[in-house]
Amino acid sequence: MNDKQDKDIAERWQLRNIDEVSMSEGELIDVLATGITQCESFCKSRYLCGDDSCRCIRSVFPHPAYYAEYQKLCELKDKVVAYVTLHQIGE
Ligand SMILES: [Zn+2]
Repeated sequence: MNDKQDKDIAERWQLRNIDEVSMSEGELIDVLATGITQCESFCKSRYLCGDDSCRCIRSVFPHPAYYAEYQKLCELKDKVVAYVTLHQIGE
């Protein structure tokens, strides 16, 4: 895939109709549990298409809305982990 193709695909992915794709809650939770392992080192696609739509993100999420949902869940997870950690220290 060349740079232009990557950008085109990212654009199409951004504009996708959410009714045409689906991702179950279970799948989303699986990703939350394992995390997104790609993108750790330099990601050319991220550089070309932006943090929110590089090919690593696109390969996991069928639509940007699911990625947004995932990010919300991540924040929530961090809060829960922080709370639990605090609570354990307090005991
Ligand atoms: Zn990436």
